[in-house]
Amino acid sequence: MSDAELVLRSTRVITPEGTRAASVHVAGGTITAVLPYDAPVPDGARLEDVGDHVVLPGLVDTHVHVNDPGRTEWEGFWTATRAAAAGGITTLVDMPLNSLPPTTTVDHLRVKQKVAADKAHIDVGFWGGALPDNVKDLRPLHEAGVFGFKAFLSPSGVDEFPHLDQEQLARSLAEIASFDGLLIVHAEDPHHLAAAPQHGGPKYAHFLASRPRDAEDTAIANLIAQAKRFDARVHILHLSSSDALPLIAGARAEGVRLTVETCPHYLTLTAEEVPDGASEFKCCPPIREAANQDLLWQALADGTIDCVVTDHSPSTPDLKTDDFATAWGGISGLQLSMSAVWTAARKRGHSLEDVVRWMSSATARLAGLDRKGAIEAGRDADFAVVAPDETFTVDPAALQHRNRVTAYAGRTLYGVVKSTWLRGERIVADGAFTEPKGRLLTRTP
Ligand SMILES: [Zn+2]
Repeated sequence: MSDAELVLRSTRVITPEGTRAASVHVAGGTITAVLPYDAPVPDGARLEDVGDHVVLPGLVDTHVHVNDPGRTEWEGFWTATRAAAAGGITTLVDMPLNSLPPTTTVDHLRVKQKVAADKAHIDVGFWGGALPDNVKDLRPLHEAGVFGFKAFLSPSGVDEFPHLDQEQLARSLAEIASFDGLLIVHAEDPHHLAAAPQHGGPKYAHFLASRPRDAEDTAIANLIAQAKRFDARVHILHLSSSDALPLIAGARAEGVRLTVETCPHYLTLTAEEVPDGASEFKCCPPIREAANQDLLWQALADGTIDCVVTDHSPSTPDLKTDDFATAWGGISGLQLSMSAVWTAARKRGHSLEDVVRWMSSATARLAGLDRKGAIEAGRDADFAVVAPDETFTVDPAALQHRNRVTAYAGRTLYGVVKSTWLRGERIVADGAFTEPKGRLLTRTP
């Protein structure tokens, strides 16, 4: 007989075997069983019946810039994790920049962990950073529990996080491959960027021309060659250029250990609709044309792209000037990511199960988080309860991240998050939050 403390019941629970009416039994924060809807509720267990609302595994966002400590006026663990929780995300992995210090040594990691510990409303893990001069720090960081290492191949936007040239990339990759770590890469080629026309100013078309597809394609081609050379595990961050897809598919068919993510903004917003001067839409690589977007969706459908992550990267509003050349590049999408993706996905004939695969199962797998990403016995009892057919209109005032700049203002989105659960505890319901209950996560050895 089950010793469940909680039974969460719905007519629509998304499990690895599909969506079905089920009772999810939870004890000690762990899913102990997924039983038929009408299975008896054990004595002493609390029953939560959410009716026809869908219960899905808590989303796992492996690409978030929390910027804490150091640039906490941009974002912080308290606000970022609340925004995430409100959007059905129960785990995030923080990028090694734009905090001060960046997560590039074990000492810096300790500083970050200390700051995050009592502010995390959801579970938080950390990526390390690979810089030109920290090869010796990579193995200690790996052993201290970072999930992998981020590198830039072109300027990152902040001075303290320089990019790697091809020789430095080879050195870092050789070291990371020696312990079978994971390198995650911002892939734009600096020479192609330098050669592109740089007009500056408020015209989005000029900005788009300054970050051409071939900058991504070339960087990805070089990266694939290096991954092959070292038989290394490599992940392409925020893919925007659909021209790189055949290259990626070919490398994977050859057995190169390559995974790929894209972001809600590349899937839901198009260059054609970005108003001039609207730098809340600026990110690098940029949002491209509608035809490019169609091919990204096709690549998600056929598995060439593995996952969808936010690349939530806010700043203070004053840095979002109307000059696309100098405005801060980054889109704040944590709270709206699932709804934005679901709204576009359903129009294209995808199911909510597809969204769960892209935003929970695949991202959990990427980070090796084997207790996350699925509703099945033995995993953490992390859930989002969602009304997929209900809509809401994005009101910036309702967003939880620190600076309420958003590219989605005024849009009507499908998918209302009714409540979010972390290890069997409801951490947000209808906009009301509990005290922080998140834990700091480290890589499973
Ligand atoms: Zn990023």
